[in-house]
Amino acid sequence: MLESMEYSNGFKGLEKKLLDRFLTYTGIDTTSSSHSKDRPSTKGQLELAGVLMAELKELNVDDVTITEHGFIIARIPGNPPAKDNQEFTVGFMAHLDTSESVTGKNVKPMVHSFYNGGPIILKEGYRLDPEEYPRLLDFVGDTIITSNGTTLLGADDKAGIAEIMTAVEYLLENPEIPRPVLEIIFTPDEETGFGMDLFPVDRIKSNICYTVDGSEEGSVESECFEAYRADAAFHGKSIHLGRAKGRLVNALSMAANFITLLPRTESPEATEGREGYYCPLEMSGNIESARVSVFVRDFEESECLRRIETLKQLCKTIEMMYHGGKAAIEIKKQYSNMRNFLENRRKVLTVLEEAIRETGIEPERKSIRGGTDGARLSEMGIPTPNMFTGGFNFHSKLEWIPISSMVKAAITLVNLAKHWFIEENK
Ligand SMILES: [Zn+2]
Repeated sequence: MLESMEYSNGFKGLEKKLLDRFLTYTGIDTTSSSHSKDRPSTKGQLELAGVLMAELKELNVDDVTITEHGFIIARIPGNPPAKDNQEFTVGFMAHLDTSESVTGKNVKPMVHSFYNGGPIILKEGYRLDPEEYPRLLDFVGDTIITSNGTTLLGADDKAGIAEIMTAVEYLLENPEIPRPVLEIIFTPDEETGFGMDLFPVDRIKSNICYTVDGSEEGSVESECFEAYRADAAFHGKSIHLGRAKGRLVNALSMAANFITLLPRTESPEATEGREGYYCPLEMSGNIESARVSVFVRDFEESECLRRIETLKQLCKTIEMMYHGGKAAIEIKKQYSNMRNFLENRRKVLTVLEEAIRETGIEPERKSIRGGTDGARLSEMGIPTPNMFTGGFNFHSKLEWIPISSMVKAAITLVNLAKHWFIEENK
């Protein structure tokens, strides 16, 4: 029986390695841009990719490539090597970019050692107060990393990258721990949503994969939204405004009215947990024609379809309200709930949960109120749930992460490799 590997059992040396790596990565601005036509969308992501390529080579990982669009794929041989040629491969994946919703330029992380349980004061009046963020109190005495209050921190997802790199280093330095073939995948432009459009799936060997992109320690995400985008087009009738009475049909008014008819109880700001919503996100146009884009989200496909039917009915209502005006709607599926692709691959989750338990924490299944690259990868045939990084308050200046959670994420990855080896060699 292999020794159990809990945090308490001499993994302390990982703290410094994780911290060094994390601080190096957060020093590189990798904010992605949804307006850029380049792929990756920003140069900083390639800079970080360069640092990671060099680091992997230093760890003597020979099989490393970077694609023209900035995807890193590195393979680490199984240990001991598999008897047949059917080498089972487990992927660990994280993303290079950070969200453009908060600036990621000039990130100056603050390392708060021996956290005392009081408010953490940042610049520009920002403060992390346990009164508002009680989870801080679970980490008294720990080392907590924050931004200085002027930028985001970038734990999403540089913590994930640091954890994967540190787990790989640990496995290479401890050859007595068995592992299957590991495939390390670092992807650009996750936050913009278009990174996966260029995902080099034909170059990937993973049978299963894990994104390390979740939040608090222990969390496992195996479910995300079903996502549709509805584009409603309104056509009015333009005429000289002085002679408009009884003739003008204003497309902009039609579009605005359409938005006000959306049920407000089914909006992102009125829902939580497993509830779905409509969210208008863009409106443009003039008297002649106008467009409104609406996101439709739910964990159940049938609920999305119900909402889409409602949108079609609302278009008809608008046509009746604006005589002579026309309204039409176009529907696009954006991504699917990854639960659909994990259902007959339960082991992908149960082995992860075993690995988390072995690390000394209790796994907790959660649903993502959004999508992940893992959802897209699952759709492509590689089941990919999401595991924790340990961070909190992503996409904000109040992002924070305790170092002990980062250590637990790295150990979980080590345990995960070991458990998959055992599972595949039963
Ligand atoms: Zn992320």
